[in-house]
Amino acid sequence: MRPEVVVLTGPSGVGKSTLIHKILKDEEIAKKLMFSVSHTTRERRKGERNGRDYYFVSKQEFMEMVKKGEFLEWAKVHNNLYGTHIKNLTEAKKKNKILLLDIDVQGAKKLKRKLGKSKTLLIFIRPPSMKELRKRLIKRADTTDIVIRLKNAKREIKEMKKFDFVVTNDKITKALAELKKIIKSAIR
Ligand code: ADP
Ligand code: 5GP
Repeated sequence: MRPEVVVLTGPSGVGKSTLIHKILKDEEIAKKLMFSVSHTTRERRKGERNGRDYYFVSKQEFMEMVKKGEFLEWAKVHNNLYGTHIKNLTEAKKKNKILLLDIDVQGAKKLKRKLGKSKTLLIFIRPPSMKELRKRLIKRADTTDIVIRLKNAKREIKEMKKFDFVVTNDKITKALAELKKIIKSAIR
C-alpha cells in the first residue's frame, strides 16, 4: 500500500531541509510528492519566505487554530509552536500526491497514531556524531538556542528505533541516494 505521508524526522540541524530540497529535484519524486508547509510561531530566518518555508503566525493566531482543531498534529519544539494544517493533507490528496513532511519526533509519532502505520512512512535522519551536529547548528548561525536543540537531539536520537528507516546524514550524496531509494520503492 502506498503511504499518504512521508515524514523526515530527526534532530534540528541534522540536514532535513537540505535533504528535502535536494530530493525534490528528482523528477519522479517531485511528481508524486508535495512538501507540507508548516505553521510556526518562531521568528523568520534570513532567506526564509512566508508560505514557502513556513507560514509565520503569532502565538495567538496559532492557538486559535489549535482551538478550532485545524491541525493534523502540532507540538512545542524548542520553545516555539509548530503544526501541520489539515488542509496540507487534503490538498495533497486532491492532487493525488503524497505529503512530504519535515517535523519533529513528537509530531511524527502523533501522525502515525492518527493515520495508522500503513499510511505513514517515517524516516529518521541521524547525525554522524553529536560533535558534527553541533558544528552544523553553529554553521547555521541564525539558530540562537543551540544548547536547547542539542539537549533535545540527545532525547530524539534515543527514539530512532521507533521509525521505519534510519539514514545517517554523514556525506550528503550518500544520504541522498539512500533516501531516494527508500522513498522510490515506497511510492511505486
Ligand atoms: P534541519 O532542517 O534538519 O534543521 P538543515 O538542513 O537546516 O537542518 O541543515 C543544517 C546545516 O547543516 C546547514 O548549514 C546545512 O547546509 C548543513 N548540512 C546539511 N547536511 C550536511 C552534510 N551532510 N554535511 C555537512 N553539512 C550539512
Ligand atoms: P526549525 O526551527 O529549525 O525550522 O525547526 C525546528 C524543528 O521543528 C525541526 O525539527 C522541524 O522538523 C520541526 N517542525 C517543523 N514543522 C513542524 C510541524 O509542523 N510539526 C512538528 N511537530 N514539528 C515541526
